[in-house]
Amino acid sequence: MISCVSNTMTSQRPAHPGTSERVRRALGRGVAFRRRRQRLADLLEALALATLLAVVAQFLVNGGSHDLLTGAAGDRLTAVGRLTGLVAMDLLLVQLVLAARVPWVDRVYGLDRALKAHRVLGRVTVPLVLVHVGTIVVGAAVGDGRTGPGGALRELLAMVTGGDDLLMAAIATLLLVVIAVTSVQIARRRLGYEAWHVVHLTAYAAVVLSVPHELSLGSDFTASPWTRAYWWSLWLLVAGSVLLWRVALPVVRSARHGLRVDRVVEESDGVWSVVMRGRHLDRLDVRAGQFFNWRFVTPGLLLSAHPWSLSAAPDGRSLRITVRGLGDHSAAVRHLKPGTFVLAEGPYGAFTTRARVRRHVLLIAAGIGVTPVRALLEELVREGHALPGDVHVLYRADAPDQLPLHGELERLADLAGHRLQTLVGPPEVGSLLPAGAGGDGSDASRLARLVPGLAGHEVYLCGPPAWMSLVHRAVQRAGVPRTHIHDERFGW
Ligand SMILES: Cc1cc2nc3c(=O)[nH]c(=O)nc-3n(C[C@H](O)[C@H](O)[C@H](O)COP(=O)(O)OP(=O)(O)OC[C@H]3O[C@@H](n4cnc5c(N)ncnc54)[C@H](O)[C@@H]3O)c2cc1C
Repeated sequence: MISCVSNTMTSQRPAHPGTSERVRRALGRGVAFRRRRQRLADLLEALALATLLAVVAQFLVNGGSHDLLTGAAGDRLTAVGRLTGLVAMDLLLVQLVLAARVPWVDRVYGLDRALKAHRVLGRVTVPLVLVHVGTIVVGAAVGDGRTGPGGALRELLAMVTGGDDLLMAAIATLLLVVIAVTSVQIARRRLGYEAWHVVHLTAYAAVVLSVPHELSLGSDFTASPWTRAYWWSLWLLVAGSVLLWRVALPVVRSARHGLRVDRVVEESDGVWSVVMRGRHLDRLDVRAGQFFNWRFVTPGLLLSAHPWSLSAAPDGRSLRITVRGLGDHSAAVRHLKPGTFVLAEGPYGAFTTRARVRRHVLLIAAGIGVTPVRALLEELVREGHALPGDVHVLYRADAPDQLPLHGELERLADLAGHRLQTLVGPPEVGSLLPAGAGGDGSDASRLARLVPGLAGHEVYLCGPPAWMSLVHRAVQRAGVPRTHIHDERFGW
């Protein structure tokens, strides 16, 4: 199999009058955006930490410190259980906020990073819940004079059968354990996205089911009027966020814009673009590089929403996605009929030029990861946000017939005097490049040869997750700081 590097090296066109000024202003906006984003990140992280500290402080003030330090053995165990339960509930609420599509969270971290933080917190929360249950049960057993594993088991049975609240809490714990188990990578792959997603949605039920036992008499959640007010505010705030941003806003937006399929176009083997039109799309706050969760209102596709990035910069009249048929749902997209109603949840993602502060831009894509990259290039060209030659596009594919949207990239690059290189060839183990591209040596040095001045670029990358990790490593080794690398992961 051959490898090849092909260049669309455009002549150095003179910049359109006013372009330098537009570039300068765009970079200035990037600096201001980064400053605002940092302030917002600090605020959000401080808020999350403050909730944790508040929970621990309330526990200590409401008698927890006494039980922990001077209580009998059973009381001490119970105190540990109470504290871990409080902290677990707090972290669970933070997790729900991270997944609630809150616009400020999305803008600061991007949905993929927010969901990654959500997953990492989940790895702490579920063990904490188990410690909570274990220490409460053993603490009560010791207090009641029931000893040994048999004693703890009898205590657990007595608790669960003793009232609806604790039975519901036990179901909530089981649900959280099932969610944690099905979130392990191997289980997730086996289960498939849709089944995993349905299981995951039961986390909301778990939170709701756990609330009654937290409100029962003598609970730490109701120990004082302040504590009660604190927890109710937190619950209502989180429930409001989920309902507003995950449910109400997508419904209202979909109704307002009335998106419908306009046409479906075959781009290359197994890849189709869907163009959608709707009302007032110019008022939709969406940028190139972002994605929506799309739900097509047609039998077979209605029940699940899938994330697809915009493959064209939004122009206020239409939205376009380009889909590779990887599974049942994505392959069915090609049969969509014009006029099909579309529900779109979004826009999401921080893979935009909002935070760009460097003049030179490297756009690097592999496979269907080209979609948001194509949109970003169009935006840079259309808005005149780059001087001729300042944008370098690298497009990686295994074979020449696997380059959807290549013609469009070529036309855009040519129009604005930018540079496009295709890197075609079978995958090389441990390398992001095909054999021979950029000469010999490490990926970092080969990439630096392909992209002169690489260390000074703002880098945007999108492609399969394993390939993206290689790109990350190579561009950082070539001297690009992490803060100038932006990515979008097509994974869950
Ligand atoms: C932010 C984002 C943007 C994306 N943009 C594009 C795009 O522009 N064009 C494009 O062709 N694809 C894109 N994808 C991938 C696309 O969402 C999946 O290929 C699609 O959902 C597969 O659905 P399916 O039911 O046909 O496939 P399945 O048979 O369910 O699975 C096929 C493959 O797709 C993966 N997949 C399934 N569902 C999802 C999901 N919800 N999120 C991520 N991966 C999934 C599976 O792990 C599997 O590898 C994007 C994914 C993300 C997360």
